[in-house]
Amino acid sequence: MDAEQLREHGHKMVDFIADYYKCIETFPVLSQVEPGYLRKLLPDSAPVQPESLQAVLQDVQTKILPGVTHWQSPDYFAYFPSNSSVAGFLGEMLSAGINMVGFSWITSPAATELEMIVLDWLANLLKLPSDFLSNSPGGGAIQGTASEALLVVLLAARDKVLREVGKDGLGRLVVYGSDQTHSSLQKACQIAGIHPENCKLLKTETCNEYALSPESLTDAISHDVASGLIPLFLCATVGTTSSTAVDPLLALGKITKRYGIWFHVDAAYAGSACICPEYRHHLNGIEEADSFNMNCHKWFLTNFDCSALWIKDRNALIQSLSTNPEYLKNKASQGSTVVDYKDWQIPLGRRFRSLKLWMVLRLYGVENLQAYIRNHINLAKHFEDLVAQDPRFQIVATRTFSLVCFRLVPANKNEDYVNKLNRELLDVVNSSGKIFISHTVLSGKYVLRFVVGAPLTEERHVIEAWKLFQETASTLLENS
Ligand code: PLP
Repeated sequence: MDAEQLREHGHKMVDFIADYYKCIETFPVLSQVEPGYLRKLLPDSAPVQPESLQAVLQDVQTKILPGVTHWQSPDYFAYFPSNSSVAGFLGEMLSAGINMVGFSWITSPAATELEMIVLDWLANLLKLPSDFLSNSPGGGAIQGTASEALLVVLLAARDKVLREVGKDGLGRLVVYGSDQTHSSLQKACQIAGIHPENCKLLKTETCNEYALSPESLTDAISHDVASGLIPLFLCATVGTTSSTAVDPLLALGKITKRYGIWFHVDAAYAGSACICPEYRHHLNGIEEADSFNMNCHKWFLTNFDCSALWIKDRNALIQSLSTNPEYLKNKASQGSTVVDYKDWQIPLGRRFRSLKLWMVLRLYGVENLQAYIRNHINLAKHFEDLVAQDPRFQIVATRTFSLVCFRLVPANKNEDYVNKLNRELLDVVNSSGKIFISHTVLSGKYVLRFVVGAPLTEERHVIEAWKLFQETASTLLENS
């Protein structure tokens, strides 16, 4: 590492990235390249001699950026957002600069201690129960993704029960979610060795806004207990992926307590909104949860990746995930006075991710973060109002946060036709490069998902997007 070279090249790279952001609106939001495009443009082998940064950046501009889908574009409305910010970027930069690997406290005490502090800050902002704080038997840890967070707590829950019933009980363990739970639950079950038939995704109803009903959970558990199965784990969601449904945490939590089931709450996207007092009620009942997760890299201005996980019983995690090889032994760890985050996660190595979350919290401040969330929700509401004014369109699920689920519904057409029409609508708007949205299916209906969440999105982008939907709909309906 040559410090002066870093200074010179670092400045050039920051200029390059700043220019990228300045003209981000000029790129097609959804990359328009064909599969395999890049192999045709790059050489077959690595260069033998060093090349200049200028040559590399030239290739980024002409060969890489065309193959990028611009998640930070103000016209990006797909999936859920993956926020970037100056604060998050600077934190990433600092983390890359220091480049330590903080698996044990001793390997960089600041990394472990800052992570504990910022997760306590965030827990307090979310008004999480005090048994998620680092001065309790629980605590928080940053995972790479919500999927990893879910997997580690499922492993902790599984092993806790298997210690009681014996390893032969694995085939009888049952995991519950709803048919709206993110697919990471199924993946976690596969990895954890849960029998595929015992990962039960309970049916939700349109009339219930796709939330998991406590009655259906009780029925399923009673049936399973009567069949000799062992209810193990429930994953409830605050802000489901398809329609941002909110499962009733308090009622579900009470049921899990009755049966000794581990209760995990996934608020990967919507958790961010709960820092605003007016949205905090969506977490009512969180005191019943054994673990809680939100992705700061989705809607909290923290560059990917940064998934905050809190757990009430850190020992359950540690018992599942700790190893203690000779080459990692040290006085601090042996003295059991420190947290070694290697025992709270799957990999050994871990990045200094708390830096960027700390920078976001400090450089924005709580009031600005709340204003940021409210602005997106207001923009989504504005979009929803526009949709509602056009009788050709229908809002399909009640908007709770910044996602609007809607579809084009011409009169007197059957469901197959309407589904096909909306698929075409999505294809046409996305291939225009002007905006990027995604879809889902709710009760057999193909539904368009419009999520406001990119940091650069302003009202004008939302209005332009709506005009594009209206014009495209007119063309499709004329030609049909
Ligand atoms: N949970 C919910 C509700 C999600 O919407 C998502 C992704 O969008 C996930 C979990 C998975 O997130 P990750 O990519 O961090 O694993």
